[in-house]
Amino acid sequence: MKPEDLIRPEILALKAYPVASAEGMVKLDAMENPYSLPEPLRRELAAVLARVDVNRYPTPSPQKLRDAIARRMGVPAGMEVLLGNGSDELIQMLITAMARPGAAMMYPAPTFVMYSMGATFSGMRAVPVPLREDFSLDAGAFIARVQAEKPALVFLAYPNNPTGVLYPEADVVRIIRASTGLVVLDEAYHVFAGKSFLPRLAEFDNLVVIRTVSKLGLAGIRLGYLVGRPEWVAQLDKVRPPYNVSVLTQAAALFMLERLEVLEEQAARIVSERSRLGELLKGFKGLTVYPSEANFFLIRVPDADRTYAALKEQNVLVRNLNPGIRNCLRVTVGTPEENRILITALREALS
Ligand code: PMP
Repeated sequence: MKPEDLIRPEILALKAYPVASAEGMVKLDAMENPYSLPEPLRRELAAVLARVDVNRYPTPSPQKLRDAIARRMGVPAGMEVLLGNGSDELIQMLITAMARPGAAMMYPAPTFVMYSMGATFSGMRAVPVPLREDFSLDAGAFIARVQAEKPALVFLAYPNNPTGVLYPEADVVRIIRASTGLVVLDEAYHVFAGKSFLPRLAEFDNLVVIRTVSKLGLAGIRLGYLVGRPEWVAQLDKVRPPYNVSVLTQAAALFMLERLEVLEEQAARIVSERSRLGELLKGFKGLTVYPSEANFFLIRVPDADRTYAALKEQNVLVRNLNPGIRNCLRVTVGTPEENRILITALREALS
């Protein structure tokens, strides 16, 4: 018996989510926070984790953690929090719950690949609507497609990955109002953008916001959260794997939520490094830098495959988006030292 005879054709046709090996590399490929936790905090965290009963299943829908998130992240009164093993899992849960036969999902493209991957997993029809040449959103064109296709689900990454562009708030509002389906605003990079629809959730009955602690400095613990009206959360909760947030993740998240200022201070450093790195990138002839409100830049170079390889040769790992996005690379904002290494390597790579 061969797996090829039994696995669904659309799964056979997929490529697994690409993750390059980063050993020994300056790792600027995955939008991580480059700063580790301060040593005293690491020791305190270790002591907290040592007290966790790993022989027990986690609390399935941990009230304490959901309350802490609500309190620390400014969840408006009346809204509920749903937890995921990363926001990746929340995306999958949303799609699983909404994939009625024939239902469509729509998103501006290019965007985060897990939306279309999720559509494939669940047999939902994905309708990508191209962004403009400069990756800005043509809200009018998008809304026209929404009206024609009536998608059950619309994903908007706010700011967008891999472009870094933050769509105008008014355009997002127009899209929410024009949609007869559920709009998911993916605020994975909100800490770097300083913009959020959380405070406006009550205005719309077809909006949920998803977020992650990954970009804030906790990518390793895998925790995402969805905020929405109780009636949405109650339905989505039914497709959540019962013990999806591990005891270690819960304990680590509770610990860090009480010390959020440490991570917020790191995020502020990343934002100030972003403007410095942006200026340096703009100094390269023949290189286009797209404006970013996130912790990375999309850059276009004459030959992305060549530049990617030349950077790799110098132990700098970025993300090559060619040929999907022609001649584009995505570079995460690192520490000042990492960014210095990137710029030096880029000078060599583009020479
Ligand atoms: N949404 C967007 C827009 C992303 O870029 C990412 C990560 N690259 C995610 C969601 C998933 O984040 P996580 O699963 O780490 O929470």
